[in-house]
Order: sequence, then structure tokens, then C-alpha cells
Amino acid sequence: MNGVEGTDMSESAKILVVEDSRFFASLLTQQIQDGLGLAVDWVSTYSEACSIIDTRKDEYLLALLDANLPDAPNGEAIEYACKMGLPAIVFTSGIDDTMRNRFLSWNLLDYILKDSGNSMEVMLDSISRAISNRHIKVAVVEDSSTTREAVRRMLQSQLFQVFEAENGQKALELLEANPDIKLVVTDYDMPVMDGFELIRTVRQNHSRDELGIIGMSASGDPLLSAQLLKSGADDYVSKPFLVEEFICRVNKSIEMLQHIETIRELSYRDPLTGLRNRRYFFENAPGFIESCQSEGVACSLAMMDVDFFKSVNDSFGHDGGDAVLKLLSHLFKEHFGENSIISRFGGEEFCVLVRHESGANASELFEPLRERIERTPALYKGAELRVTISIGVSSRQDGLDAMIRRADTRLYSAKSEGRNRVITE
Ligand code: GH3
Ligand code: MG
Ligand code: MG
Ligand code: MG
Repeated sequence: MNGVEGTDMSESAKILVVEDSRFFASLLTQQIQDGLGLAVDWVSTYSEACSIIDTRKDEYLLALLDANLPDAPNGEAIEYACKMGLPAIVFTSGIDDTMRNRFLSWNLLDYILKDSGNSMEVMLDSISRAISNRHIKVAVVEDSSTTREAVRRMLQSQLFQVFEAENGQKALELLEANPDIKLVVTDYDMPVMDGFELIRTVRQNHSRDELGIIGMSASGDPLLSAQLLKSGADDYVSKPFLVEEFICRVNKSIEMLQHIETIRELSYRDPLTGLRNRRYFFENAPGFIESCQSEGVACSLAMMDVDFFKSVNDSFGHDGGDAVLKLLSHLFKEHFGENSIISRFGGEEFCVLVRHESGANASELFEPLRERIERTPALYKGAELRVTISIGVSSRQDGLDAMIRRADTRLYSAKSEGRNRVITE
């Protein structure tokens, strides 16, 4: 693992470990630092835990606590952390019904059995999930206010941002107003619009890749679960359900969506340079051009190709060539910034689409980049590798294909006229 993603991890984002065994505490600390890149503070008693929570609670993302401490044999430290609003994950050597009920009443994030073989892995997963959940929006759709409240509490214990609706119609309005809701947990039997109709309507414009749906119902009808799944739900729980089961299903649905997002993101990037790839470019460029047109701002498309790149490879090897490509990508990103799509089309050829001030001359945008590349060497094994670049630009917005064709023709002219130059409209 390479640190926790999806969060603005500032220096002060730490984990508080409350554990009386020095050995176990240092094991936890090391795992958290190495596995998640998060800093850890460790205290070994209930009284130290209380004082650090009282004075410095805001420095911590969450606390990891031992269920038994010498001065708190009945989970008093856990209760205190929860009461003070510090999310808590508990390590325990075993769990009975009484203990479990107390944990649940405190809205614990998670409990982990110490002696299970993979408890460290489970703990790291639990922490990263908690951190990422804080940014995820979940809607509960349920007409019974008691059940809705109970489900909301379970979701809030997992740090989700929770929204509520009392029927399908209200849920549609909620989704309309909050298009970034990631998961809908919906009852089946509701007035105005039931769960079936809600799911069918939602699926007309929210695919399974972007929005998860979990159906729930108290009806004992076994066909109902199958019907909810067939109408577009991803999962189903029968009421009443165990908190642990519900939370596992919710987390599993969210994880599935996150995996899909990761795969999609990877499929849109060039692994060497981290730039967008051809696929991303062709899927997104038309929308980019359209939005420039509707906002009345100018945009230019440029084809850029490194000059005599083959000779870099011949002199310094493929790795030397790669170092040059990475440097160029870095310079492109700095130069064009957010208002652009910068893509690697293949080999040493790049295509950029960039928004700019109307009336600004395209050569004013590209000439400084050409100059900067000319004077910035890539450092490779103690050597300075210098390259130049040829750029063909088209600024008339008459459709993607035409823009690419003209930029290509101009790039070809730039090459034949001596390279290391920009040719614009
Ligand atoms: P020109 O000025 O006409 O563009 O000459 P050039 O040498 O840059 O063009 P040519 O198309 O002959 O050579 C491009 C070279 O780029 C050939 C290929 O081996 C190299 N290349 C393509 N992809 C990569 C890559 O990912 N890494 C490295 N190091 N080289 C690559
Ligand atoms: Mg109902
Ligand atoms: Mg070239
Ligand atoms: Mg080329």
C-alpha cells in the first residue's frame, strides 16, 4: 500500500494508539506508518488516553484502542473516545454478546479480533476505509422513521455523509440535488414511490459503475430479493439484519465502485509519463471543444513531436529516452495547467488541447514552451540530455478531426522547415 488515497492528508492527520502492551503498540505503529504513511501517537493507559483526547482530539483521524487496559478493564477508554466523537477501532482478544452490544451502542467504527492470523491487514483496511468513507455520500430511503434513523446511525458510525429520504420520489430529488451520492440503501415497501420503481428509474441514468444500490425489505417473500436484484440493485438485505452484516455489504459495494474507478483511471493514463492517453483524449476532446465554444473562449489543438528522438535512444539507451519523455511531460503539465487535456499519442508524439484567452495569439502560448524545452536538459546518469520539439497548432474550432488534421500538417511542415519551431494558424 502507498498511503491513503482520496483524502487531504495534512501533517496533523494522525492515528492515536491506546494499548498497554509496548510490543503490540510498536507493531501497530510500524504497520500504520509503513502501510498507510500515517503518523502515530501512542499512550498506554486510560487516564493518558482521556487527557490526550480532551486536549488534542482534533489532531487525530481516529483512535485504535485495546479493549482491556489495566486501568479500564471494561472498555472505558473506548466509550470515552466514542463519547467525545473520536472514531474508534477496537482490538480485542475475544467478544461475547454483552461486549458486542456495548460496542454497538457506542457506534464503534469496527472491532478486530487480535488473534486472527491477518489482524494487521484487517486493521489497515479498516483504517483506510474509514478515512475514505468521510468523503462518500450515501442515501437512506425508508418510510419508517425508526428504521431510517437506525440505518443512518450505522452509516454514520462508518463516517459516511448520510442523506435521508422517506420515499422513492424524495430519493430522486435527493439524487438530482446531490449527483455525487455513491450509494443508495432503499426499502422496498414505501408510499408514493416504492423501491422497485425507484431502482428502475435511477438505473435509467445511473449505471452500476457509478452508483451502488442496496435493497432492503422486511417481507419474508424470497422472490422479492431476486426481483430487486433483477431490477438493478447490486445487493439485498432482509430486515432485521445484523449491524456487522449490513456494514460489510455497504463497504463491499463501495469498494467495488472504487475498484472500477481505479481501473477506469488506469485505462485512461499513459503509465510512463502519467499523462492522459489516446483513449482518454478521443473520448473527452469533443466535450472540451464544445464547452469552449459555449463559454465563448478560444482553444487550440497542438501536435508536438520530439526532434531526432531516435538519436537520444541511440546515444543514451531506452532509459535515457524515457527520462527525456518524463521531463517533457512535467514541462507540459506546468505550462498548460488544468485548462487543458495533455495526452501522449504514442512514442514521442503528444497532442494537447488547451483553452486560452480569446484574442490571444496561439504562438504566444506555444513559443515559450518550445524555448523552455530547448534550454531545459533532462538529467540522466550524470549527463545532460537536450532535445528540441516541433509543434503544429490549429486554433480554428471546426471539429476535432479537422483540427487534428491541420495540426498534423503543420507539424510536418515544422519538421521539414528545420525542426525546433512552432507553426500556427
Ligand atoms: P523526427 O525529428 O523526424 O521526429 O525524428 P525522430 O527520431 O524523433 O523520429 P522517429 O519516428 O524516427 O523515432 C522515434 C523514436 O522514438 C523511435 C522509437 O524507438 C522511440 N520511442 C518510441 N516510444 C518510446 C518510448 O516509450 N521510450 C523511448 N525511450 N523511446 C521511444
Ligand atoms: Mg417500508
Ligand atoms: Mg520525433
Ligand atoms: Mg514521431
